[in-house]
Amino acid sequence: MRIEVVTIGDELLLGYTIDTNAAHLARELAGLGVEIVRRTTCGDSGDSIAAAVGDALDRADGVITTGGLGPTSDDLTKPSIAALFGREMVLDATHLAWMRERWATRWPDKPMPASNAQQAMLPVGARKLTNNHGSAPGIFLEDARGRWVAMLPGVPREMRGMLADTLLPIVRERLGTVTRVVRSRTLRTTGVAESLVADRVGTQLDGVGEVGLAYLPNADGVDLRLTVRGLSPEVADARLAEAASRLRSVMGDAIYGEQQADLAEVVLEACRARGLVIGVGESCTGGLLGARLTAVPGSSDVVRGGVIAYDDDVKRTLLGVPAALLAEHGAVSEPVVRAMASGVRARLRVGAALAITGIAGPGGGSEAKPVGTVWIALDLNGAVESRQLRLWGDREEVRRRSAQAALELLRRALASNPAA
Ligand code: ATP
Ligand code: MG
Repeated sequence: MRIEVVTIGDELLLGYTIDTNAAHLARELAGLGVEIVRRTTCGDSGDSIAAAVGDALDRADGVITTGGLGPTSDDLTKPSIAALFGREMVLDATHLAWMRERWATRWPDKPMPASNAQQAMLPVGARKLTNNHGSAPGIFLEDARGRWVAMLPGVPREMRGMLADTLLPIVRERLGTVTRVVRSRTLRTTGVAESLVADRVGTQLDGVGEVGLAYLPNADGVDLRLTVRGLSPEVADARLAEAASRLRSVMGDAIYGEQQADLAEVVLEACRARGLVIGVGESCTGGLLGARLTAVPGSSDVVRGGVIAYDDDVKRTLLGVPAALLAEHGAVSEPVVRAMASGVRARLRVGAALAITGIAGPGGGSEAKPVGTVWIALDLNGAVESRQLRLWGDREEVRRRSAQAALELLRRALASNPAA
């Protein structure tokens, strides 16, 4: 089955919205063994929608569009594709009644705007795709030759819900038994440079069979993505498992998780399992580390709190860093970061205290301490460990990498010290 995707919206062409819908569609369909063969983006005009979808239909078995299904004047997807199929638009009374009811429960005092009724207009012969997260239904239209267009909403949450709830089942049914799939597995590493990762991986995958390996560097580390195509689901999974275990054997504990794993979550789990409570003291990251930890649902049983010790005065008064250390070594130094960590442990009464101090840039660097110089420290039940980082990138990247490195310091300390 050849499927093309057409994402619709002026904001996509202008670059104000990043086209995450097309990426999500491609990943989800790959899971069924269907490859997106081409992606197009067009603006909100009826002509360009009809042209893009018409061209795509000439090449593909099916076309999925996103966007332009709403009630506003720039929402022209339905009528222009209906015209392409030579279908009239008719009112779907059931949908209109459902919309009125929905409106009445939300805004009982106001009449429903007439523009909303627009959403209940459907091309003749269309199949409605239920929207469990919004009011505009999706539409599935098929011509006499069996070529089809599925129109999904632009709002990513609605699009994803509708895809999972209604469109994927239709595609699956049309595919019959799935015999060939595209499958990926991602191993996440951190703290090891991309070239070193590549060195270690070397020829490890030789003999596993055809497996794509992509090195994906990002601010959190280097992800290793394995992909196999065109195999039966069982063979694909077995091959991925073999390839992943070979990568694990050379990367060892540099791998902190798979797929979307979040290092903060991994660290929280490890602390929870030991009954350890975490506190943080942050200078150049200004709360980013605390934000990473508390972004994880359920973190409150492990995270006690933190101090944004940005100014030296706060390092002194709230974390108890001796003034003499600050004067002698400067705020970005090993003695200070160690004192920050110990201060956090003592004052917040936690078992695991992390501290960060550094120069995120773009200003503030010197020859001895260039931008990207960051010290991190861990005080784990009184045992203090510190590391200097020489980070690159802009301010945001330096801050992100610092928080990640601090989490990694704790993860490794726990891994190598099971009794902590
Ligand atoms: P609505 O009913 O809200 O009008 P719609 O189906 O008409 O929804 P659009 O108006 O095209 O969809 O887009 C709605 C929102 O979804 C916008 O904020 C837009 O930026 C976002 N959006 C649209 N297309 C995409 C896309 N391809 N990727 C990510 N976000 C998108
Ligand atoms: Mg819209």
